[in-house]
Amino acid sequence: MSTASYLSNRINSLSESATLKMTKLGRELAAKGINVISLSVGEPDFNTPDNVKEAAKKALDENYTRYSPVAGYPDLRQAVVDKLKRENGLDYDISQIVISTGAKQSLSNVILTLINPGDEVIIPTPYWVSYSEMVTLAEGKSVFIDTTIESNFKITPEQLEAAITPKTKLFMFSSPCNPTGSVYSKEELAGLAKVFEKYPNIFIISDEIYEHINFVDKHESIAQFDSIKDRVIIVNGFSKAYAMTGWRLGYIAANKEIAAANEKLQGQTTSGTCSIAQRAGIAAYQDGLESVQKMKEAFARRRQLVYDLLNDIPGVKTNMPEGAFYFFPEISSFFGKKDPEGNVIKDSADLALYLLNYGHIATVGGDSFGNNNYIRLSYAASDENLKEALRRMKEALAKLV
Ligand code: PMP
Ligand code: GLU
Repeated sequence: MSTASYLSNRINSLSESATLKMTKLGRELAAKGINVISLSVGEPDFNTPDNVKEAAKKALDENYTRYSPVAGYPDLRQAVVDKLKRENGLDYDISQIVISTGAKQSLSNVILTLINPGDEVIIPTPYWVSYSEMVTLAEGKSVFIDTTIESNFKITPEQLEAAITPKTKLFMFSSPCNPTGSVYSKEELAGLAKVFEKYPNIFIISDEIYEHINFVDKHESIAQFDSIKDRVIIVNGFSKAYAMTGWRLGYIAANKEIAAANEKLQGQTTSGTCSIAQRAGIAAYQDGLESVQKMKEAFARRRQLVYDLLNDIPGVKTNMPEGAFYFFPEISSFFGKKDPEGNVIKDSADLALYLLNYGHIATVGGDSFGNNNYIRLSYAASDENLKEALRRMKEALAKLV
């Protein structure tokens, strides 16, 4: 990526998204005729449900082709309000919902809305690659709380409190978590909420985009605690639950001031998101969870498959993720080893590149998620591809000496 001196400091200090970089490298190898299996980008390998596609076709025929309201069509915002009540037991008003061009834009909007230069944002590691980079763009400072596989990658209330300083403005996390799959229980969230009660100036981004891909329990949102609800910003979207990654449709549910500020920001940057995608989103939420359930069953089967295959690879240590569709195994035992050409594997990014170039499987190094001792594998791929990918991984890792 270019860092030419005439580019802004802002852009020169930004890292490239590792998930998208590894996916691009995988696609480039595939374009040369090499059979690459992609376990890098996290997106369902299913097609968007038919009823959603039909709604988009109808929207075109009905000429939903003009600018939409900046915060989204009122009936889509109402569908989100209804969904939050029906599925999460949460009360919101339409004025608290802002539709965006994907959860990624919502996260970025909220950070730009709340963070002044020097404000601290607490982020548990491992975190989704873009969190810390969005904070950097807003000139905030990321403060990390490290977790490991031994604690199932979850933080305790004590760890949270120890990370808080007078400069802390925001805490952000995902549950189910990308990249670890960890899911916070109601009791665990209550413990964190108790800490936030003591610090009324801290806001909380709760990224719930994987809420339906949860294998242990029903989804719990930290917004359920009334004492802090006004400071919680729920970020969610249609990409994962409805296999709609390319449609670019997400939203926030937040207090009215934050929602209005997000609308103002979108009004000066992107305007309302794609009109056709919004009409399709209404159909997704009105038609319930049947297709989500089918996807979840497939993911549950694949989770067990990949768990067994990873456990069969010497030097790789994994836990059983509770949600999302990723494994985040420990691979530091390979650091310091050499590939067949004598190159030393120094870190997780080197290992991911080695697996791509020698094993022809695309993964993502854990360093970009804030923990270098791991790599991330997405298991949103067919059973056949997963079996072959894990076979290749085992073979390639055995060649490191
Ligand atoms: N949050 C997390 C944790 C994610 O994994 C993703 C996936 N890209 C997003 C947000 C953004 O999703 P989208 O922009 O596709 O709605
Ligand atoms: N959330 C997905 C991932 O983590 C999509 C890629 C991205 O937007 O980073 O792979």
